[in-house]
Amino acid sequence: MIRDPETQTLLEEGVRRFVQEVLVPREEEVAESDQIPQDVIAQMKEIGLFGLSLPEEYGGLGVTMEEEVRIAFELGQTSPAFRSLIGTNNGIGAMGIYLDGTDEQKNTYLPSLASGDLIGSFALTEPEAGSDAASLKTTAVRDGDYYLLNGTKRFITNAPEAGIFTVMARTDTTIKGAGGISAFIVEASTPGLSLGKIDKKMGQKGAHTCDVIFEDCKVPAANLIGNREGVGFKTAMKVLDKGRLHIAAVAIGAAKRMLRDALEFAMNRKQFGHPISDFQLVQGMLADSKTEIYAAECMVIDAARKRDEGKDVSIEASCAKYFATEMCGRVADRAVQIHGGSGYVSDYAVERFYRDVRLFRLYEGTSQVQQVIIARGLIRGATI
Ligand SMILES: Cc1cc2nc3c(=O)[nH]c(=O)nc-3n(C[C@H](O)[C@H](O)[C@H](O)COP(=O)(O)OP(=O)(O)OC[C@H]3O[C@@H](n4cnc5c(N)ncnc54)[C@H](O)[C@@H]3O)c2cc1C
Repeated sequence: MIRDPETQTLLEEGVRRFVQEVLVPREEEVAESDQIPQDVIAQMKEIGLFGLSLPEEYGGLGVTMEEEVRIAFELGQTSPAFRSLIGTNNGIGAMGIYLDGTDEQKNTYLPSLASGDLIGSFALTEPEAGSDAASLKTTAVRDGDYYLLNGTKRFITNAPEAGIFTVMARTDTTIKGAGGISAFIVEASTPGLSLGKIDKKMGQKGAHTCDVIFEDCKVPAANLIGNREGVGFKTAMKVLDKGRLHIAAVAIGAAKRMLRDALEFAMNRKQFGHPISDFQLVQGMLADSKTEIYAAECMVIDAARKRDEGKDVSIEASCAKYFATEMCGRVADRAVQIHGGSGYVSDYAVERFYRDVRLFRLYEGTSQVQQVIIARGLIRGATI
């Protein structure tokens, strides 16, 4: 749903200009320094990117899902690390509080998340609980007005920068699966919380992940999200449904960028006396990429509209994330192929994008997990 087409066009144009004029020229600097420059972060704050999908009453822009994915098509057209910093605040780092938090929790944390003064992180994955997240072992034991958290979370995006974490922990160890899990807001300065070494990743330099370790970490009981035990896994899944549509849209943006780069290269590079874009086998790669991007875009917009209508889109969100991120991988491969040997060296952005976009098929549920969700949904809904 687009509330006001004129405002939306202005917003998309503003983000497009910011991406092309400010972010794209800084990509290599970010890749080399593994840091997002402070002046870029300041500009992101200024144009409201940290609070894009947080409600206006908390200082955000309050965009709908359709508006958000259309903006993500633009944001995706530069290094994913830029999006990663603001994406967690708008998405998995804040949505648990927004969707299921108490008014007091929302009032305490959402305004500073929306302004970008506070960075939020989402801590679900553990060393032995990845795809099978409901088997997580981190415990939260009630102790008067506090909970004592013990356990380790793995690969947590923005953990080194985060001021707060949404942490899923088991409050009832007699229940093995999802029912025993609760969600907490844990401030980074809480005694008993420490960070592991920053992971050396394949790509997405500038976006950081590391372990988050809880050792008798004393969290106020008031920070139990929604003041309810046992519903934390449901909160996490709701957060991920939305996150999957966002990641799908970002993957489409990245695919558009790689296709644009590949097209420009193909029209300039000459072999056999012709631009390689004259050769039908190269044209086939360009055409397949455009077709798949268009298909993914239609899918994501449709799913976003359904979510805006209040429909349950867990199957559609998984279809969109699965298709768009796998499509992005195929486009990355073709874009490198079209660049020939130049696609394998770092003089061209496509070499970096090829590594950066690999992550889209892994996090917020691997492609196989999306397949499982889609098939389970089909089986559950079958009438035979
Ligand atoms: C850079 C990065 C950032 C991340 N950020 C975050 C974050 O901010 N917060 C967070 O909580 N987590 C985060 N993650 C974790 C991420 O979500 C997990 O890595 C992902 O869910 C997969 O879990 P796993 O790595 O344990 O792999 P595993 O679950 O061990 O899977 C290994 C392989 O087995 C397959 N597999 C597993 N189960 C099944 C099944 N039932 N059927 C078929 N195949 C299956 C998988 O698809 C995969 O191919 C991040 C990971 C990375 C790499």
